[in-house]
Amino acid sequence: ARALRIGLIPGDGIGKEVIPAGRRLLEALPSSLGVSFSFVDLDAGFETFERTGTALPQRTVDTLKAECDGALFGAVQSPSKAVKGYSSPIVALRKKLDLYANVRPVKGVATSLFRQQPIDMVIVRENTEDLYVKEENTNPNGPDGRPVAEAIKRITGRASYRIAAMAGRIAERRQKMRAAGASSIHSEPMVTVVHKSNVLSQTDGLFRTTAREALAAATPNVRVEEQIVDSMALKLVQQPEYYDVVVAPNLYGDILSDQGAGLLGSLGLIPSANVGEGFAIGEPVHGSAPDIVGQNKANPIATMRSVGVMLEFMDLEQAAAKIYAAVDATLAAGIVTPDLGGKYTTTQVTEDVLKRL
Ligand code: NAD
Ligand code: MN
Repeated sequence: ARALRIGLIPGDGIGKEVIPAGRRLLEALPSSLGVSFSFVDLDAGFETFERTGTALPQRTVDTLKAECDGALFGAVQSPSKAVKGYSSPIVALRKKLDLYANVRPVKGVATSLFRQQPIDMVIVRENTEDLYVKEENTNPNGPDGRPVAEAIKRITGRASYRIAAMAGRIAERRQKMRAAGASSIHSEPMVTVVHKSNVLSQTDGLFRTTAREALAAATPNVRVEEQIVDSMALKLVQQPEYYDVVVAPNLYGDILSDQGAGLLGSLGLIPSANVGEGFAIGEPVHGSAPDIVGQNKANPIATMRSVGVMLEFMDLEQAAAKIYAAVDATLAAGIVTPDLGGKYTTTQVTEDVLKRL
């Protein structure tokens, strides 16, 4: 059997309640899948910062690099006002492990203002450059005496190529999983490239042409379409069921990912993964939820689905498909936490999913 070691980074708040559900899920996978898991507990977050002076201890980074095949990250609490020396550990981890993609599956029933509609897409956000290089400048005395602030939007061929190639691989894998019986509303793999090259012809123009080049070279059987970002925002409301894999530069991807989450309602359902070459960290999209912490009310499903996404990037599609199907069955049976109108606890929902594996 393939033996895999998973780093567990619960972080703060309900991270400590949902990450154990992820661990139990991995432990409960049938041995017929030919894979076994061991675990190492790792610290990060605001509580870690208050205790040790750093939000991301070196041991956490070193252990992930040296020992782990993948990891699960819960949530961190950000201080309400800036605290000297504190910076987000997940942002730092993405940098240190070069996890250049943020991958967010958005699957479920979209409840827009107009109608109910099954949707099944994955938003792939480039996560290292664009406006988020944070090279900002302010001239306090502009030409008219008022300040002028500006920021660098940096797009590279390298980052655009690798993110688009990853989107193509994800589209192919989804097609493979469908062929193996995974439920889906799509029948053909497609990647939609999002940009605004009609205005930003050099930066977004580079993203667009490079993405097309990468997709044509790496995954020629995947259909490629483009969508200008503002019109994408409209389409995501009017026709979300149309999209399969969506790839975007950092800023647009950030915004569209949250819009995607909004289509589905509860944050407690939405998984993500931070992905680089050969390493993925599964991470529920929600935060530390201080309002429900310690009450056994946190919805574990975002984390359980994040386990599935992590496994997909470890080439364990079958295990991932089993998890998705079990979670869907639990949801369909109405075994849900209070955020979805149910009366079940974190523990009860977790155990119901395990039972259905
Ligand atoms: P949040 O996601 O923690 O909570 C928003 C609302 O959704 C709350 O009412 C919460 O109870 C509910 N919710 C979230 N996850 C849930 C789950 N699994 N089950 C049931 N209900 C759930 O966002 P927030 O309140 O804006 O932020 C709280 C803290 O989390 C802040 O310190 C913020 O900085 C941090 N945060 C961290 C991350 C992250 O670690 N990736 C993301 C967002 C916010
Ligand atoms: Mn965001």
